Amino acid sequence: GQHQEPPHLRQLSEEQLAAVTAPLGTVRVVAGPGSGKTRVLTSRIAHLIRAHGAQPYQILAITFTNKAANEMKERLAAILGEEAGKELFAGTFHGLCYRILKRHIADLQGTGRDAAFTIYDQDMSTRVLARLVRAANPDWGGRAANSKADELQDAISKAKSRMLTWHADTPRGVADAIQQHAIMQLEDQPTAGELARWQELGDYVEQYERAMRDSNAVDFDDLLGLAVALLRGNEAVHRRYLRRFRHVLVDEFQDTNATQYELVKLLTLPRGDLFIVGDPDQSIYSFRGADMTNMTQALRKDFPEAQIYALRDNYRSCARIVATAERVIEQNDDWQRAGLRPRLPAGHPIEVHVLEDSHAEAEHIAKEIKDLLRRGEHPEEQVAVLMRTRMQARLLEQQLVLHKIPYVMVGGVPFWRRVEVQDVMAYLRLAVGLRDDVALTRIINTPKRSVGDTSVKKLRAHAAERDLSLCALLFGRPPAGSGATSSAAASLPPLPDRKELGLTPQAAAALQAFRELVLGLHESVGSRPLAEAIEDIIAKTGYEQHVKEGGCSSMKKGEQQHGEHADRLMRLEQLVAVAEEYVPGSLSGAGAFDADFDVAGSEDGSDSGGSSRTSGIDEDAEVTRHPCGSPPPDYTYAPDYSLHLQHAQNFLDEAALYSSADEGGQGARGVRVMTMHAAKGLEFEAVFVPGLNDGLVPLLRPDDDRRDALSEERRLFYVSLTRAKQRLRLSHTWESTFFGRGR
Ligand code: ATP
Ligand code: MG
Repeated sequence: GQHQEPPHLRQLSEEQLAAVTAPLGTVRVVAGPGSGKTRVLTSRIAHLIRAHGAQPYQILAITFTNKAANEMKERLAAILGEEAGKELFAGTFHGLCYRILKRHIADLQGTGRDAAFTIYDQDMSTRVLARLVRAANPDWGGRAANSKADELQDAISKAKSRMLTWHADTPRGVADAIQQHAIMQLEDQPTAGELARWQELGDYVEQYERAMRDSNAVDFDDLLGLAVALLRGNEAVHRRYLRRFRHVLVDEFQDTNATQYELVKLLTLPRGDLFIVGDPDQSIYSFRGADMTNMTQALRKDFPEAQIYALRDNYRSCARIVATAERVIEQNDDWQRAGLRPRLPAGHPIEVHVLEDSHAEAEHIAKEIKDLLRRGEHPEEQVAVLMRTRMQARLLEQQLVLHKIPYVMVGGVPFWRRVEVQDVMAYLRLAVGLRDDVALTRIINTPKRSVGDTSVKKLRAHAAERDLSLCALLFGRPPAGSGATSSAAASLPPLPDRKELGLTPQAAAALQAFRELVLGLHESVGSRPLAEAIEDIIAKTGYEQHVKEGGCSSMKKGEQQHGEHADRLMRLEQLVAVAEEYVPGSLSGAGAFDADFDVAGSEDGSDSGGSSRTSGIDEDAEVTRHPCGSPPPDYTYAPDYSLHLQHAQNFLDEAALYSSADEGGQGARGVRVMTMHAAKGLEFEAVFVPGLNDGLVPLLRPDDDRRDALSEERRLFYVSLTRAKQRLRLSHTWESTFFGRGR
């Protein structure tokens, strides 16, 4: 009888209970949507703690988003108590690797980065590339350069996610590895054109890697790749993590890429405890390098003794929805799973609506939602609209506004990607380390201060001639003011004569003022609480005025949306508020990673500084050792100074790790609007799926392998359908405003 089970095992079916209480070792749960995989994984953690005596800090739980990690921790805190929830590491692969590298990057040779490294998200990586493309092709328009940069970013990211570059320790090495791979994929001799293209790719990769090192930055794929390289290359570090994480659990395993899979192996083999759940039919990220055969073939090979559990019952959706979804997925060639058994009654009929065009469709959906809400059948946040592309959102947004329906764009432009937030964060980035070239380039003339593109180009050329980064030219390296002072005493390196730099008197004066401004901000960030330092940035840079004058708007005057400036100013206030409340781990859900490391006598804990059991990250000992990365021995800050810098650095990193899928989650009021991809793992009482026109759903690109791409599109549709608990409404149009007109 279920009522006799301890609390954490209550509300589990026989099948689920069997998986949760499976013996230690490798456990693989393969099951369809809504079958309770995530619930089983969460219960397993509770079970490890309750029945196997595991300590929460020995548990590593990997989720697909930070948001999912936070939800998991909340659920566990409810079952096990606050402390347990805090000590557990639940986060994404990226969050995990970030923590590992922050602590150990110096133990890996040849990365060219130190512990003060910053993370560049996809946006910022593309910016670096766009700058390189523009420099190589001065006559190109912005659009051409940007699209080339996108293409390069994609190629580099794919190569890195396939583990092609992990062993390379120089920029050229990374370039060679990527080039080599392109050549190996060919069946015939490469043509001259192909060779030239790879040459070009290789050159860009090399320059890109160099630029990243200069700025002490890593991209998202580097986070994973460098962590793999570290664990493979440094046995002491590797052993340390094997000892620390006795239990590893991974949700949504079907969407791991090669690097992530390698990490899982490194953290669990030869004899760890690994619990993975997933569903190959919901693998929807292969375009980003995810490989669902990790869940099947690879696991069978690497973990031959894995115990396999299946869950057959669907607890989420009404029977009609389950049956419909199964009808869709069974058409895939590779489909083999036994069908899902619905546990809920038939429910409402599934509705399919046909509208004239996309405008009518958006209007129709808004009206239907209005109607559902008026009848009080579902709370707002239980109604979702899932779209194939972001492009579809605009029409819908207009209609939702028109009908006064509150909504939350999940994965829309997230708070952290807003122009004004990014600008201020770029100032912060620059101020913290005085060596981030991308941040510098972003804000050197924002707000406008007469250091325009031409001046920057001249400065850059001058720096390049001397093999310096722009930051090193302007601020020196390491940051000015060595010596044990409570603030880095201001002394900027002398600049060459303005004529030698080729600057106008006006530009030279503005540049000098800018250098002093940034140095002042550096001191401010080092000596004041984070929120105050950010307020300082907003005030002293003239940014507030800049916003009020419409400086950050990409729209032309007169076209500006009503209240846009006010919105931007409000977001800046919000940023200050977020900074005020920030404690390490609170943004990326990483929890107390470094707490209680190596509690039981460590053989190689020499660098752990005798960390005590605290919930903060890198407190006391750590911080005084690494104030701002690894400065030369004669360059030390007073402890509180470095503490502030470290805090600001953590804040920057976690903001970069915060992904669009984490946005618009808990608490916020309103109907959920998001892409199909972002809906993975979620559930809603009522789900609308518009735009079911050929060309949009499925969306096939001309150069796709048609069969594979179609299978993945079908899985994506399957994921969408299975988000619905009670109501499912599909629609398509006679005339599509987007692709594939009329099909
Ligand atoms: P997905 O593949 O979409 O991620 P999942 O397999 O992870 O789905 P869960 O999200 O864990 O499924 O569970 C789906 C829903 O069913 C949740 O609302 C969960 O609370 C509920 N559920 C799971 N198991 C049971 C059960 N034994 N009794 C009642 N409800 C359950
Ligand atoms: Mg799930």
